[in-house]
Formats: sequence, structure tokens, C-alpha cells
Amino acid sequence: MTTFKKYVPPKEGEPITLQENLLKVPDNPIIPYIEGDGIGPEIMTVARKVLDKGVERAYGGAKRICWYEIYAGTKAKETYGELLPEDTFEAIRQYKVALKGPLSTPIGGGHRSLNITLRQVLDLYACVRPVRYIKGAPSPVKNPEKVDMVIFRENTEDVYAGIEWPQGSKEARSLIDFLSKDFKVQIPMDSGIGIKPISITRTKRLMRKAVEYALAQKRKSITIVHKGNIMKYTEGAFRTWCYELASEEYGHCTITETQLTEEYGGKQPEGKIVIKDKLADDMFRFVLMRPEECDVLAMPNLNGDYLSDACNAQVGGIGLAPSANIADTCALFESAHGSAPKYTGKNKVNPCALILSGIMMLEHMNWKEAAAKILPAIEKTILQKKVTYDLARLLDGATELSTTAFGEAVIGNM
Ligand code: NAP
Repeated sequence: MTTFKKYVPPKEGEPITLQENLLKVPDNPIIPYIEGDGIGPEIMTVARKVLDKGVERAYGGAKRICWYEIYAGTKAKETYGELLPEDTFEAIRQYKVALKGPLSTPIGGGHRSLNITLRQVLDLYACVRPVRYIKGAPSPVKNPEKVDMVIFRENTEDVYAGIEWPQGSKEARSLIDFLSKDFKVQIPMDSGIGIKPISITRTKRLMRKAVEYALAQKRKSITIVHKGNIMKYTEGAFRTWCYELASEEYGHCTITETQLTEEYGGKQPEGKIVIKDKLADDMFRFVLMRPEECDVLAMPNLNGDYLSDACNAQVGGIGLAPSANIADTCALFESAHGSAPKYTGKNKVNPCALILSGIMMLEHMNWKEAAAKILPAIEKTILQKKVTYDLARLLDGATELSTTAFGEAVIGNM
């Protein structure tokens, strides 16, 4: 039973349900969507059209998404007087799968990130970001086709937990005082303070998701990306706990890199995933120089934020970067980029990242046939060099299309 405080419940469609941890998707699922700020409304309109067409082409009308608008950010404030109504959380919990446009966050003050609040309140603990080359996309590297990685970024803790106080505040002063008196730690009195919690439970559940994914997708390795040489009890512990989880729960199907060398003479045995780790700074070099050795990557929140943008730059940039935020009971799909406010209303930006996030959503719903209609159409359009400005400026002889025209071109190629 839907119990919204302010929203009018959807007039058509049926909710997706969970049965024994598996999604049960009706033929007319209600999918909530948040348009988002800045370029959000433009890319969301196009993405929904393309996704609808993919579903129609795959199932000939037997299945259909019943979109249901929910609100966050500027539009929520204008419509409901608050930036993130409680009904938005309730709708995502209730309907299990949702699509979201980017939401703006003020820098250095103002309200807390609505994105982070959504992730924390709904406990969307695994941020999954596939980074894969789409044929024809411009790239600054020689062999972008070697890039096929999936980043698992912990989404609820680390310095992103939002536990911080500004310089000069009562809380910052009191903490500095306490640390000085009780732990003899000297911190300049005019410091802002942020706290970086990393826990066993949240690290292990993220790693569990990464291993489950690697097993299901028959991936070869998982690299734990951390800065454990410096932040020993947070990032170093993250590394330790990831290894522990792999050996405790998946010892029969995982081996460490040391075992690979010492017990298997460097030859990866069939059916075993290699677990290895790398320092985050070195990883930025490694993904550029030896991308073929990067497969599934598991990391704390901040590393994941930085590294996913850098990896995406190798395969065409942020305009092509999808993302999923996954909890045990619901999932929120969104583009990895932000609201790019300078392009608002210009019908100019690339809607691909949101469409690709929608493809992840269809795969999550097990509507694989629809996903399989859309991806080749995107590839075909890019190969025809019909692209938005971000790719056009990097491709010789490209035809620059608007956001809407690009969507139409993809539909035409479906
Ligand atoms: P951004 O919105 O991702 O934009 C940075 C640059 O990336 C743009 O100037 C543009 O580069 C390129 N870009 C982004 N989206 C694109 C698209 N769809 N097509 C083509 N190019 C695209 O990052 P930002 O400017 O740092 O952040 C703006 C706001 O978004 C902030 O308030 C931030 O907090 C928020 N944000 C939200 C999310 C989220 O909702 N998950 C994520 C990140 C940031 P060029 O100008 O070089 O072409």
C-alpha cells in the first residue's frame, strides 16, 4: 500500500515487487523518475523516449514502462516547498527501481548534497559504474577498446558521510580541543574538521556485491583500490576487510595474486577470480597504461568518485558515463555527470549517459531484450558520427546534433 503524504499515487501500472530477494517485474511496471536540475529535464525527456522505444521494439507492446514523476531539487522546492520530500524516498522504496537526473549541490556552504542524502537514507550502498568503450567514440588514448572495467564504489561512508564542521564552529573547536587534550594531537585552531569513517560491515557488503557481480559476469579479477599506506585504519582496513570477505565467503572461487604466482605459476585457474589491490595514486597510472588488466574495481567512496571520471575520460568522457546506486531492496539509476548548469535549456548536451543508465536499469529488471535493442543503436549513431557537441569537437567530420536530435537519431537506428 502506497502511503504518500503529498504525492498523488500513479494512475496506471503495477509496482515491481521483491520475492526471495529477486525482483518480480510486471509487464507494466511503475518506474519513478526525478528530472533533476540544470540539464536534467532535457536529458530525461530524451532518455525516457529512447527507453520507451527500445521496450516497444523488443516486446511489440506486450510490455510498457509506466513512468511516474517524483521530485527532488529545484522542481521539488517549487512544487512542494522542500528540496527532497519524504514521498520521494517512499516512492523509490515502494517501486524498487527508479531513474534520476543530476541534482545540483552548492559549494562551500548551503544545503547538503541531495544525491548523498538519497544514497544514505535509502542505503544505496553500491555505486556501480561500468566504463566501456563504445565503438566510434573519440578517445584521448591509443587503444580505448581495451577499456572494459566496472567500478564498485562504496556509496555511504568515507569522507562523504557528511560528518563535518566549518572552521570556527563550536563543534570544530570542541573536537580540536578534545583531540589535543585526550590524544595529544595538534590541529591548528582555525581548521575545519571532516571525519572519515570506514566500517567492516559496509566494506564487506560492498565487496560482496563486487564478487557476486564478478562471478555472475564471469570476470577475471577484482582490484581493491585504496590509499592504505597513508590512511592505515580506514583505507588500509578497507583493503584487509575486502581480502577477508573474499577468502571467508568465496574462498572456493577466489585466489589472491600471491597465490596465483606461488601456487598456480602465474596461470589463472578456470573458475577462480583473482583478488588483488593497488594504491589509489598508482591506479591512476595503471588504468591508463594497462587498462586490459583492470576488470572489476572495488574502492571507498572518494577514490571511486575521482577514478570513475578519469576512467570515463578514456572512453569518450562524462557524457557517456552511466551509473547505478544499488541497495538490497531498491536501486536508483543516474548518469555519472552533474547538472552542467551552463548548458541548461540549450538542448545541447549528450543524453547518452542517462540512456546508458536506463539500459543498466532495464538489465537490472531483466528486460535484457530491450537493453539489447538500444545499445547497438547508440553505437551505430556514434559510428555515423552523428553526435552531440562534446563528442563532435573531438571527432573529425562529425555532424553536431542537439540533445533531442541525437535521441531521434538513436531511435531511427533502432
Ligand atoms: P558536471 O555537471 O558533470 O559538468 C562538468 C562538465 O562535464 C561540463 O561543463 C561539461 O564539460 C561536461 N558534461 C557534463 N554533463 C555532460 C553531458 N551530459 N554532455 C556533455 N558534457 C557534459 O560537473 P560540475 O560542473 O562539477 O557540477 C555541476 C553541478 O552538478 C554541481 O552542483 C554538482 O554538485 C552537481 N553534480 C551532481 C551529480 C549527481 O547528480 N549525481 C554528480 C556530479 C555533480 P564541457 O563544458 O567541457 O563540455
